[in-house]
Amino acid sequence: MSEINSSLSLANPHPANYNGTQKLGLALIAIGVLSLALAWVGIGKDQALYFFIAMLAGLMGGGLIYFYGTYGKLPAGIKNNRVFFSSIASRGALGWMLGIILTGFYISLYFFPKYLNGLISLFDPLSQLVRGKDSDQWFVYGTFYTIAVLVMGIKFMMKYRHNRYQLIRTSSVTFFQLILAWTLPIIMENLYNYGPYLSYFWPLDYDAIFPGSLSYVLKSGKLGQFVVVWGLIMTFVATPILTYFFGKRWYCSWVCGCGGLAETAGDPFRHLSDKSLRAWKIERWLIHSVLAFIIILTVLLLVDNAATGKVLGDAAGKSLAKTYSFLIGSIFAGVIGTGFYPILGNRAWCRFGCPMAAYMGIIQRFKSRFRITTNGAQCISCGNCSTYCEMGIDVRWYAQRGQNIVRASCVGCGICSAVCPRGVLKLETGPENAQRTGIQLDSHGLIPLEAVKILD
Ligand code: SF4
Ligand code: SF4
Repeated sequence: MSEINSSLSLANPHPANYNGTQKLGLALIAIGVLSLALAWVGIGKDQALYFFIAMLAGLMGGGLIYFYGTYGKLPAGIKNNRVFFSSIASRGALGWMLGIILTGFYISLYFFPKYLNGLISLFDPLSQLVRGKDSDQWFVYGTFYTIAVLVMGIKFMMKYRHNRYQLIRTSSVTFFQLILAWTLPIIMENLYNYGPYLSYFWPLDYDAIFPGSLSYVLKSGKLGQFVVVWGLIMTFVATPILTYFFGKRWYCSWVCGCGGLAETAGDPFRHLSDKSLRAWKIERWLIHSVLAFIIILTVLLLVDNAATGKVLGDAAGKSLAKTYSFLIGSIFAGVIGTGFYPILGNRAWCRFGCPMAAYMGIIQRFKSRFRITTNGAQCISCGNCSTYCEMGIDVRWYAQRGQNIVRASCVGCGICSAVCPRGVLKLETGPENAQRTGIQLDSHGLIPLEAVKILD
């Protein structure tokens, strides 16, 4: 009981009283970080296997033990205690340090992989085991990414274990990362020398239908043909249909790897999203510009290819594709999108840059059965929903008015509903037009008579 009291205490914003389980977890994490750091600077190259085991056991085992000590011993229910006093989660010194480390890692990954040589060697034993060859920077990145989604996904499920929607959604997103984005590509690469990611499609996988990529993929015979057809069906048939029925949450919160990392590893930073009207305006301009850019670029490249280079010229086409790849694929999605989690929140890429999110957002806003319904009369204006909306939506504004929420950016994570103490918000699918715009309550908080007549 004293553990519960000390953990919930608001009187002491900086408690140093970790329980025994947390201390054990932190000690193991320290061993994991130390092994990683030593290997990174090139120490212990000949004992890579031992360093790798120490790193993995320390980070995964230590992390899970620490989170169990943090959440497992408390009663189920939302725990965001002291989040605004936390240096790492509220843009304090630790938050900035983490942001700089993550950004530095992404810059090295994309542009200076030689600085990751020590780290790459650390993963050689695992790479040899599963792929039969030495590691490279993308294997390191994919493996780290998957570990982060798994460990932080389990932590997320401990934290939200009272909420069925969150448990199922998080199981789904970790499954897709582990199986479709990590295991399957490795198996296919071993078998066919080509390991496609079946959970990424155009326009998120921006070069999937560039002429150069198509001819490369089609060289893989029947598998290549399958991948091209699969991608086209997912982009142009399945995505509109699924978004019509379920909103963009089917992908952004249940399948996508970027969303998977944001929802799990990024969960401690979700309250950092900018809720201002200015940010909303920037969001709409930016995300739709990226979508327009990739559509125009893809069409131009395809037309140019059909006209055997007479439209753009080979050099112009290549340099346009390189510009998109550098600005959007590397800088925006990687360096800013993930590196800036502790500064901009966990969904900066999904909110401001992802062309797939923009595409589904248009469908969700104008032609979908998904909406968040609000029971305005129950709202006590606490603001929890707005605070923890990772997409910067001022959910409370809608709740206070009893209006349904139909916003292009909503990824259907359901956290606004999970943190609401009054059960005001519900993620629903229903008839396309019924109540999509909600009903404005009168000054007494009641449904106006005219609206009742409309409902009848
Ligand atoms: S409105 Fe709710 S469900 Fe939508 S993104 Fe924000 S918190 Fe998630
Ligand atoms: S969390 Fe619930 S009660 Fe609080 S402002 Fe939002 S809708 Fe209203």
